[in-house]
Amino acid sequence: MGDSTVFSSPQIWWSNSIFFVSVHLAALIGMYWLPPTRITWPTVALTYAMWQLAEFGITVGYHRLWSHRAFRATISIRFLLAILGSAGFQGSIKWWCLRHRLHHRFTDDPIHDPYAATRGLLYSHMGWIFFKPTYTRMELVDREDLDRDPVVRFQHKYYIPLALFFGFAVPPLIGALWNDALGAFVWAGLVSRLAVWHCTFFVNSLAHWDGLQPFSDENTSRGNLLLAILTSGEGNHNFVREHHAFPHDYRSGPWITMWDPSKWVILLLHRFGYVSGLRQARKVDYEEALAYMDHKRLHDIPPFHDKRDGSSKLADGCQYWTIEATISYVKEHPNQCVVLLNGWVVNVTAYLSEHPGGASLLRRYAIHSEDNDADDRKWRDASWAFDGGLNNHSRAAVKRMKELVVAKIEPHAESDLTRSRD
Ligand SMILES: [Zn+2]
Ligand SMILES: [Zn+2]
Repeated sequence: MGDSTVFSSPQIWWSNSIFFVSVHLAALIGMYWLPPTRITWPTVALTYAMWQLAEFGITVGYHRLWSHRAFRATISIRFLLAILGSAGFQGSIKWWCLRHRLHHRFTDDPIHDPYAATRGLLYSHMGWIFFKPTYTRMELVDREDLDRDPVVRFQHKYYIPLALFFGFAVPPLIGALWNDALGAFVWAGLVSRLAVWHCTFFVNSLAHWDGLQPFSDENTSRGNLLLAILTSGEGNHNFVREHHAFPHDYRSGPWITMWDPSKWVILLLHRFGYVSGLRQARKVDYEEALAYMDHKRLHDIPPFHDKRDGSSKLADGCQYWTIEATISYVKEHPNQCVVLLNGWVVNVTAYLSEHPGGASLLRRYAIHSEDNDADDRKWRDASWAFDGGLNNHSRAAVKRMKELVVAKIEPHAESDLTRSRD
């Protein structure tokens, strides 16, 4: 694949780099000239508020709402989250979510994960910001839902003025109310931007390096309380099943006692009717994930062991089908989305809403009922699009897919499929 050449010489992203370094320098100089001892209490409070609000824009908005569609929100709440997220200076919603979906899809892959922890702590924390690589797998990431949202389109178009105004102009305007515009600019503008940046970056760096892995050890994601506190709950990166084992859960952890202010904000908005459709992973799934990790620890099974557990065994009660039988099944189930994955016939209809990054991709590979046999079909085996088929997905995703399997293609028919692919 030509990917490695793209990887070896990524362009430096000058505008990003200069802005990023300049804000750091300006904040450091500001902190030197105006140390905390010289700012007033209202400015301290404003600094904290500006940090937390922007952080919620990222965690509640960019991450849980737009990247993972963990809940639905009214247009006013989406607009508010878009504004708060802009003040976090992390790119537009669209820019951020596409990279985040790539990160989930290709976690730890040094080429395709934008902030791969396997490339070192510093790179996954902020090194990646300095480069402008071409993400060759970006076309595999669904963006339809983002393009459809007028708030996302508006914020993408006006991202820079929105970010500059709410991140740097609003704090001194508020500070002027108590005659401390300069202090508010330095602390609630510059310094709190650094706090938002680095706290979010910890999720990509430290949350993939240190902590607990009760749900899955298939990738580097970790959970830890200190991180959870710094990142408004996102640091429970694995503990919560949220991030990598169960990414569409609106909570970052299944237990009520887990530190997760972003979840509390979502629940509060839900109480007043501003958000709906909160999604959460099924209790049986996370209990199974926990029990499985216990089992692995008990029996000393090494991490990554089951990454490729081969979905080739035929489960009890599952039948072999011909291509023709598969097409008849599709005809009997109109308006459903049925795909072929590694030779399995999978009815993914129920899964579409759980997989924002792959819904339109799955639809594109759905088997058409107009096709009469293997030769005139317009669909193709979707496995290649999943880079190694289901095996490259998390164990939780593979398990979910297995529940949706309706049959297996007969072995000889499968070899025909492989030959005629592409
Ligand atoms: Zn992650
Ligand atoms: Zn995520």
